Amino acid sequence: MSASTITPWVVGNWKMNPVQAQAQQLLNEFKQLLQNSPIAQEKCHLGIAPTMLALSTVQAQMADAARPVYTVAQDVSRIAGTGAYTGEVSAELLADHGVGYVLVGHSERREIFADQRDQLNAKVQNALNAGLTVIYCVGESLAQREAGQAEVVVLQQICDIAAVVTGDAWGKIVIAYEPIWAIGTGKTASPEDAQAMHAKIREGLKQLTPHGANMAILYGGSVKAENAVELAACPDINGALVGGASLNADSFHQIALAFANTK
Ligand code: PEP
Repeated sequence: MSASTITPWVVGNWKMNPVQAQAQQLLNEFKQLLQNSPIAQEKCHLGIAPTMLALSTVQAQMADAARPVYTVAQDVSRIAGTGAYTGEVSAELLADHGVGYVLVGHSERREIFADQRDQLNAKVQNALNAGLTVIYCVGESLAQREAGQAEVVVLQQICDIAAVVTGDAWGKIVIAYEPIWAIGTGKTASPEDAQAMHAKIREGLKQLTPHGANMAILYGGSVKAENAVELAACPDINGALVGGASLNADSFHQIALAFANTK
């Protein structure tokens, strides 16, 4: 397996967790770990995606961390700008609050909140227009995998955004491959299966854009300290989107160390 020149990313997706006091404790513990056992910035990008309510808390608390930790929004409105859109947060408002990164297309958004191609494309486009980097999530369901459709589904999800991502804007896209059946279930894709899909995604990206060879492709789905090293050893796995394990500072730090040291 050849060494990758792509700097890995490890991003924690806190989902609708935790309560304030726990969030503050988690951030303090993580900051302490970064102090005691540093992870060089050039070895690994780090990000935390808290609830919208906690974006400013994460930003403020991590401002004096030993190294940058990006604040990542979990979603963004399909509506741009400002206006009478109750409950929505636009890409411009995120940027105005200093948030430079956003997840789009997480399977929970696709499945529970019925985000479909057109809405997702609007979100991607708005985010890019506002200067955000998009972590675009793709992944197949168990039924799709068992029907032998995993690759087609995932590559189609990537092709979908080519309608709104052009030219150098591809440089602001990070892909997160998250097989739905592995999210929050404790089931991880085997490193071989994950690598095989990542290699297909890489081929697909290369066909879409000259940036394809250098784009980070993260794996997500029950990543934990115990499986991070073997996932990090796969040549086309350039980091992890971490749900449950990111709610424990030590586990999240271990995963980041695994990617920083293995790549
Ligand atoms: C996720 O929700 O992005 C995720 C990968 O969750 P978990 O790590 O808990 O499977």
